[in-house]
Amino acid sequence: YQRLSQGLSRSSRDLRDSIAGVFTKRKLDDDTLQDLEDVLLQADLGMETAIRVTDALASGRYGKEISGEEVRAVMAQEIEKVLGPVARPLELDLSHKPHVILVVGVNGTGKTTTIGKLAAKLTDGGLKVMLAAGDTFRAAAIEQLKIWGERTGSPVVSSKLGADAAGLAFDAFEKAKEAGSDVLIIDTAGRLQNKTELMAELEKIVRVLGKHDPDAPHTVLQTVDATTGQNALNQVEIFRNIAGVNGLVMTKLDGTARGGILVAIAAKHKLPVYFIGVGEQVEDLEPFSAGDFAKAIAG
Ligand code: GDP
Repeated sequence: YQRLSQGLSRSSRDLRDSIAGVFTKRKLDDDTLQDLEDVLLQADLGMETAIRVTDALASGRYGKEISGEEVRAVMAQEIEKVLGPVARPLELDLSHKPHVILVVGVNGTGKTTTIGKLAAKLTDGGLKVMLAAGDTFRAAAIEQLKIWGERTGSPVVSSKLGADAAGLAFDAFEKAKEAGSDVLIIDTAGRLQNKTELMAELEKIVRVLGKHDPDAPHTVLQTVDATTGQNALNQVEIFRNIAGVNGLVMTKLDGTARGGILVAIAAKHKLPVYFIGVGEQVEDLEPFSAGDFAKAIAG
């Protein structure tokens, strides 16, 4: 929570100042509610949540003077209501051996790092993990994954640069079965510049995994960089359509994140948020808590 609230401290301070500015000796009326809505939209919270907050305020206190502090308390409450349903722990179905986690997302959003951190968590929990370097286009991504593999004691299946990613995923599944791995985590390329190619590649990966196990991949996890702002909403839309994303990890909440975008994504997509990334180190992956997050944003 400390890393998160530090990461969001600047934006929550800005938000606090803006809210205080709106409500200095002013009554809660149509004008102040409109100003507040603008402030919330600027914080990337999204229209749905902005309206929730202003409605909640208006229903009890319309026409009365109200402090910035009271406004922030209601805001935290409403944000928590939006986030509560999506704050869910990642559940593995270990009747599938391996449980396959396909990790997708735009390059640079933290896929490889998140895979490393997740592998550490799972191996610490006594599970046998295998990693697959499915981003066969970037030598650096393969190298990074190998480093995480060594760090966490997880074998890494990789191929030559430029090799077919689906072929690699297929082989990795076989190896994971042979090795008796509980979980197979597959990295992928996130070249959004060429959407058709990306779509074809991810679809093929999903298809070949299905040959081993019709339910695989069991989890399709997307990493979303919290510092990207509004564009993150589109990224989720795109990868959801292409790869059937069924869970999110919001990364880089320790940096210059604004955080509000997570609320907008939760309201729109209602996908579970399993973890948040709060740094580059192995321990910097935390379960997502709706209450903590709402408090950190509202300041
Ligand atoms: P990929 O291209 O999606 O695989 O992204 P990477 O895992 O290579 O991450 C891109 C950069 O973001 C690297 O420098 C990571 O160390 C950094 N990064 C990833 N997650 C976090 C996070 O939660 N916080 C911070 N501060 N940096 C992160």
